[in-house]
Amino acid sequence: MITVMKFGGSSVGSAEALMRVAKIVTEKEGGKIVVVSAMSGITNFLIGTMENGFRDPEGAAELFCERHMDVACKLFEGEALESYKRDFNERLDILKDLMVDECARIDPYFEDLFISQGERFSSLTLAHLIESMGFDSVALTSEEAGIYAEGRPLNGTADLEKTSLKTNMILRPMLQDGVIPIISGYYGVTESGRALTFGRGGSDYAAAAIGNAMNADCVEIWTDVNGFMSADPRVVTDAKTIEEMNYSEAGELAYFGARVLHPRTIEPVQRKHIPLRIKNSYDPDNPGTVIHNLSKRSDNKLLKSVAMKVDLSIITVSAADIAYRPIIVAKIVEKLADAGVAVYAISTSLSTIAFLIHNLDVKQTLKNLNLLDSKDIERIDVKSNVALICVVGDSLLSYQGFSGDVFGAVKEVGANVEMISEGASDVSLNFVVPTDSVTEVVKVLHQKFIVGEGTE
Ligand code: ASP
Ligand code: MG
Repeated sequence: MITVMKFGGSSVGSAEALMRVAKIVTEKEGGKIVVVSAMSGITNFLIGTMENGFRDPEGAAELFCERHMDVACKLFEGEALESYKRDFNERLDILKDLMVDECARIDPYFEDLFISQGERFSSLTLAHLIESMGFDSVALTSEEAGIYAEGRPLNGTADLEKTSLKTNMILRPMLQDGVIPIISGYYGVTESGRALTFGRGGSDYAAAAIGNAMNADCVEIWTDVNGFMSADPRVVTDAKTIEEMNYSEAGELAYFGARVLHPRTIEPVQRKHIPLRIKNSYDPDNPGTVIHNLSKRSDNKLLKSVAMKVDLSIITVSAADIAYRPIIVAKIVEKLADAGVAVYAISTSLSTIAFLIHNLDVKQTLKNLNLLDSKDIERIDVKSNVALICVVGDSLLSYQGFSGDVFGAVKEVGANVEMISEGASDVSLNFVVPTDSVTEVVKVLHQKFIVGEGTE
């Protein structure tokens, strides 16, 4: 029995939190592999330091050191503290060198290397803590553990085959000897030995990659909430934790909804049918949410969750007969790709194509779209401050009348539907409403379809 346990930034962000984590890990039966994020706030701090052009490397190193040592002094004393300091300083020297090495910055993967430093320290702290409790534990960087990644800087994808070869070689003997490996999340190593991050929040994905590679029996994502919720509890007071979901539902929710899970976490575990559990490190007895192959809905409710995303804009590009000129669509999509924006929905008509993006991406997107040939494009319109609602549930589209029921409820609160995306996935129905009516819509849908009878 192998469990991969991943702990997020707030779960390793203080001495108290680390103690809770160490207890959870050591009490877990069977072989366990632990993956950690950096302490909360550390990745942002590193990014800030870099964006400041490393103006005050000494001051930055001092702050970094203080934050970690504050915690270490609460956890260790005597020889345990000294031994921690030795390992810590070794890694700190590397971090300090990176802050002053101007040549290193030329490497396209430098940013990945720098912003992934936090994980190398949090893993060290937890491994020392578990050791101090009388267990065998070792801190491993992703390089040492053998998490392989490929892709462009800041946007890595795990190479599952290579990862499997290496991690099995490194980690299996440790598990057999009862050693608990504590691995840095967030990044993998490229063929050429460079650190490559998996995007913000990527430690979840690193854990899933290790779960896949090691054929784990379960991957647990330990965070500071009880799991996926039926709605944002700040909007809907009677929102409840979802006990179980299938992989596709969780994937859609992770993509659109609350930041409980990095959306890419699903794929590596789904491939091997490994159950994924979301657990709360502040409330370990809470069952959380389990994500696995679900053949049947457990509670007869069609809808699992109503998620929302605000601060979005609809960009509408008009061009004559665009539906018959796919090459123009291709050019528009290419410009979006160049701008590197996430597109949350697309819809087309004979002479327009509309897509939904974040407000913050509008400027760059317009700049790129304006590079298109003016004889191809007639007009570009922007509608700002709209919100996306994403209702998630298994096989929604196979229930006749479901959309009608949903939009009937939206009409009840008098909200105008600005854009609809349905049919792309069997587990979600997405539509856009003005921001000022979004919470009303979420509330009514939650009440009707999750608390109440809804469509059965
Ligand atoms: N520490 C990284 C971040 O803040 C990765 C993670 O937490 O998953 O994005
Ligand atoms: Mg996270």
